[in-house]
Formats: sequence, C-alpha cells, structure tokens
Amino acid sequence: MKPVIGLTSSIDSTIRRGVYKINSDLINIIEENGAIPIVLPNLETTDNISRYIEMLDGIIFTGGDDIAPQYFGEEPLSQVTEISLKRDRTELALFKEAYEKRLPIMGICRGAQVINVGLGGNLYQDIYSQVEGVHGHTCESNLEEGYHTINIEKDTMTQEIFGAEKLLVNSLHHQSIKDLGDNLIVAARSLDGIIEAVESTEDRFILGLQFHPEVMAIKYQEFLKPFTYFLQKCRR
Ligand code: MN
Repeated sequence: MKPVIGLTSSIDSTIRRGVYKINSDLINIIEENGAIPIVLPNLETTDNISRYIEMLDGIIFTGGDDIAPQYFGEEPLSQVTEISLKRDRTELALFKEAYEKRLPIMGICRGAQVINVGLGGNLYQDIYSQVEGVHGHTCESNLEEGYHTINIEKDTMTQEIFGAEKLLVNSLHHQSIKDLGDNLIVAARSLDGIIEAVESTEDRFILGLQFHPEVMAIKYQEFLKPFTYFLQKCRR
C-alpha cells in the first residue's frame, strides 16, 4: 500500500476572496516517489484535525509566511508583516496531533519553524535585526541553485541522509529557529550560526529543513534524498 502524505498549504488572499497555493514540485516529488499526496486546507476550527491525521501516514509542513509571534509568546517586530493566523492555528493543531500519533513529520522552511514552535521552542522574528553578523538568507532568484553553505553535524540523521558534512543550499527566509523545542537537536547551521536543520532526539522521524530541497531537486538529485528517506519511514 502506498503511504498517504498530507501537505499543508497557504492561502493567497490577494486573489479574489483567497486562493489556495502549494508548490507543485513538492506534490510531484511525493507522487513520483511512490506515495499519495493530499493537500491539507487551513480551517476555521480545529475540531476535525484528528480525522485528517487518521487519514495520513506522514505529513509535510510546507513553506510560506511568518509564524505569528503570539504563538511563541512575543510581541511582533515591525519586520513581521505577512502572517496567517488561520494557517498557524491549523498547522500547530496538525503538528500536535501528528506528534501524539507518532506520524513521520517533515518541515520545510516555515515548516521547520512550525515543528520548533509546536514543541515549545521560539524563533528569531527577523534574523537581520536580531542576529549580529548574519549573512544573506533571502534570495528569491535562482531558488533551484545553492546560495549559502551549511555545515551538517556529525552522527545526525541529516548527515546520514545527505552523506555530506557541507552542503550548498538555497535560502528564502528572514526568520529562523532560536531556542530549540523539546526533544530537538540542531543538525545543521549556516556559517553565521543560523539553524538550518533540526531533527528529533527520540526514536521517530522528525526533520525540519530551513532550505527548500524540493526546488534544488530539479537540478540536483541529492536533494531528493530527504524525501525518499522520509517516505520510507511512512510506508505501511
Ligand atoms: Mn538560510
């Protein structure tokens, strides 16, 4: 049986009364690697979250707007301008339920931050104003190519997945993980110290990547690896 993988989505509220968006590369990767993708909506209530999780064998939290600072106990900096409370509420509820049900969980960019906040951690709301000596992390052009380097920690799952200690990755974020949530470890950092990958200390699959492997995978096969590894953990 192919595993069923839920993928979270965003709403573009500049189009009519709101149009759902998700990167098609991500859907294609899941389908082409032997699984069944399902796009998860953002909901007004969290009453039926457990029903969604029951349908799934794994879940991917995708990229998008900033997480509202109220979800990690802070007032917003002026640099935090694009938020979606409906999406935040839905994703944090999905995360909590998926974590309790021990579903394999992957987070990409914003999704890595959702994992961290879901486990009680917090974020830099804006690395450029909060982290001294930070280099560029926000490059919208050529997202299919690498932009900055990351160092991968030894003896981590991330190192096992990529089989490398250094990696050139793309980068499209101005927020990042600050203090780690429960049972998480740092698996990779950029050279200026920004956390670029986290994983679980427990015997379960949780992987958060601050970069976008789904876009790099268009040109570079090695970026398919986190997905194929994740899907193996999701097999029934
Ligand atoms: Mn980065």
